[in-house]
Parts: sequence; structure tokens; C-alpha cells
Amino acid sequence: CGIVGYVGAQSALDVVVAGLKRLEYRGYDSAGVAVLADGGLAAAKKAGKLVNLEKALVSRPLPTGSTGIGHTRWATHGGPTDANAHPHLDNAGRVAVVHNGIIENFAALRAELTERGHLLQSETDTEVVAHLVAECFSSTGDLAEAMRQVCRRLEGAFTLVAVHADEPDVVVGARRNSPLVVGVGEGENFLASDVAAFIEHTRSAIELGQDQVVELRRDSVTVTDFDGAPADVRAYHVDWDA
Ligand code: GLU
Repeated sequence: CGIVGYVGAQSALDVVVAGLKRLEYRGYDSAGVAVLADGGLAAAKKAGKLVNLEKALVSRPLPTGSTGIGHTRWATHGGPTDANAHPHLDNAGRVAVVHNGIIENFAALRAELTERGHLLQSETDTEVVAHLVAECFSSTGDLAEAMRQVCRRLEGAFTLVAVHADEPDVVVGARRNSPLVVGVGEGENFLASDVAAFIEHTRSAIELGQDQVVELRRDSVTVTDFDGAPADVRAYHVDWDA
């Protein structure tokens, strides 16, 4: 339902949780975050309102990091439980993925992954993406390329945002039939399903086109299509009051 991603000099967790709050008006049934810190990935997710997640973060704080993603979920596949909340991780806990929309061919992908020894831990259509990205990353070592390879296999509507502990300064996003916007800052960049999530930080935005993948670093925004061909990007000024 709501997606936020951040890479920059601020505490990613603070930026992401504040961004999720700005998206609360859309309604949701669970919330979660993942942060890259100290060479690893740490995540927390809770059914219910954001305040439940915030309480969990107080009793079990995440390490401070400058790259992170977050999600508020509106369940379509699997009930609104802690396990089904996003982010979804691969079995090694190195990849975290959040998703808006529906992966129509998830059942076939799930069967294929199970056959290869992956242990699926939720009932969502989303989780397959974390496992597939982990596999493609282990052969490419490049999160954006891994995401492109995975997107070529997906059917349905999706906004996906992912991080990998082996690329701690990168956030990757992708979209088909579901919105994704980049917020361009100075020494920091944002990703969100809606500009409302980052409007307090920057009013320079790039709307991702259909079937595009974006690689976000502190000082760069690189957009390609699902085959890796570079795409033209033009930032626009967001001039409405959020
Ligand atoms: N289909 C996914 C799920 O049920 C994502 C739902 C959403 O857009 O929040 O977990």
C-alpha cells in the first residue's frame, strides 16, 4: 500500500517511519521496516497500526544505518499477520523487499523456489521476489541487475523496492502498473509510492515510467528499462502542499 525508501546521511529508520506516517491516510493493516547497518540487514514488522511497529522498535531497537526501506501493507494474499507483513527477506537474511500490488504468477514461482530448497515463510505473493532477487544477486553481484532479471519473470502489478546487505549504499526500485516516485535530494535520495512521503525533504521528483528499474545511491539516480537500456529521466518540481 505505502512504500518508502531512503539512502543518505540521515538515520534511514527515522526518515522511513516519518514517510510511512505521511502515507497513513491511505489505510493499511500492517507495517514494517528494514535498515542496512554494520554489514548486515535488520528488519522489524508488525500487524496493526504504525504505533505497534514503533513500540516494537522501542523494545527491540534496530542498529542505526543510512539506507532503509519501509512498507504499510494492505493484505491481498495472506492475512494481516506479523509474518505476512513486509519487508520479506530471503533465507540468508541479506535481501529485504517491499511490494505494492499483486504478483499474479506467484504460485508457480513459489513451487519452483521450494523445489530449489528455499523455505518460504509467509503466505504472501510478495515473498517469492526476495528469494528470486537473492538468487540473481548471487550470480550478478548487482542489485539493480538482479531486480531487472526478476521483473522479467513477474506477471501482474507491482511496485517493488529492495535492499541487499552486500550493497549497503544502494536502494533499488521497480514498477509495472503501480506508481513509484524518486525524491531527489542533495547527498540523499528517496523512493516512495507517493510524493507525500518525502515532500518535507525535497520537492524535486522523478516519476518512474512503466517497466522501469531505478538504482538509488546518495549522489545518483540511474533509471533503465527491464532489459537494462538507460532511460531518460526528467525531474519536476512538486508544487502542491502536502
Ligand atoms: N500483495 C501483497 C500482499 O498481500 C502487497 C499488498 C499491498 O499492496 O500492500 O502482501
